[in-house]
Amino acid sequence: MSTSPDKLPLVDLHRQYETIRPEIQAAVNSVLERTDFIMGKAVSEFEAAFAAFCGAKHAIGVASGTAAIHLALHALDVEAGDEVITVPNTFIATTEPIISLGAKPVFVDVDPERFTLDPPKLEDAITPKTRAIIPVHLYGQCADMDPILEIAGRHGIPVVEDAAQAHGATYHGRKAGTMGIMGCFSFYPSKNLGAYGDAGGLVTDDPVLAERIERLRNHGRKDKYEHLESGYGERLDTLQAAILKVKLAHLAKWNERRQYLAECYNHALTDIPKLLLPKVSDECKHVFHLYVVRHPQRDVLQAHLKKQGIHSGIHYPIPLHLQPAYQDLGYAKNSFPVAEMLAEHILSLPLFPEMLEGDVERVAGAIRKL
Ligand SMILES: *Cc1c(COP(=O)(O)O)cnc(C)c1O
Repeated sequence: MSTSPDKLPLVDLHRQYETIRPEIQAAVNSVLERTDFIMGKAVSEFEAAFAAFCGAKHAIGVASGTAAIHLALHALDVEAGDEVITVPNTFIATTEPIISLGAKPVFVDVDPERFTLDPPKLEDAITPKTRAIIPVHLYGQCADMDPILEIAGRHGIPVVEDAAQAHGATYHGRKAGTMGIMGCFSFYPSKNLGAYGDAGGLVTDDPVLAERIERLRNHGRKDKYEHLESGYGERLDTLQAAILKVKLAHLAKWNERRQYLAECYNHALTDIPKLLLPKVSDECKHVFHLYVVRHPQRDVLQAHLKKQGIHSGIHYPIPLHLQPAYQDLGYAKNSFPVAEMLAEHILSLPLFPEMLEGDVERVAGAIRKL
């Protein structure tokens, strides 16, 4: 996604590639020379490095963030007739694996300040069929995990974190992905840690779950031609692992730069009528996968920015319970008023580690002019 200088994209992957080109090319080359394309050396090396980064005992590389959630739920034996609780303001990849295992997504509304699963609303959604709870650490900030874990624990329900937007984020010092029984990550190119294609990963401290997921991602294999159970082709590609290993070494620095740029936005955008800025909870380190503001005339604001060559995004414009794909779940409009209000007011401004202070000023200036 390279663009001409007068356009400011939401994310510019090329600017980042320019800063790491020799390292990436060397890593790709070494895989090409070794030709260990499937489950090669770089996969286990990246897994060890990512487990260490998260402070988890095990990391398992998989084909995508969607595959990570799918494998986590399969490893918990989620099946037809079960229910899995999550939030409506997320990417549909959070719920697709629930459906593909034959289970049913049950939604809970979100907290209006941090946009994540609102703990007081959780208990009412639990039924005897609830098999898992998936809080989503949206935009780079962790959900309020302590009360979620407390309620889930009381009911004996496992918590699987959707940490696809929160690599390196913390909650009371604990890393995203390590608070529930498993944490699922996406390494989609535009994520804080992104591959150069599809990739994902899971972390867990549970050796039994780790072993089962390692098997499930690779056709349920014990060895080449002996399959202990029917699994999937959801392995992490060796080339992507080699690229991720290079990029992981830069992640902490990139996350700090995102936090710094978010601070710059906060300063440049203070005291603009009706514009609400993202709030960071005291117990959280927010890694700003996205910098999301709110405005009641969001569409006007977005169109105005676009005219100045500034791209912005909406994550996400249609809450999942109102998606055409999910009409059979039977949720009406106003079922989740916070998520529905957010869908109409949120706007993601350009943010990526290679952005300059001048880029932030340009966006802020354009917003002020309106
Ligand atoms: C990106 C994302 C996913 C899915 O990841 P893929 O790697 O694209 O499959 C899941 N959940 C959330 C919240 C995401 O942002």
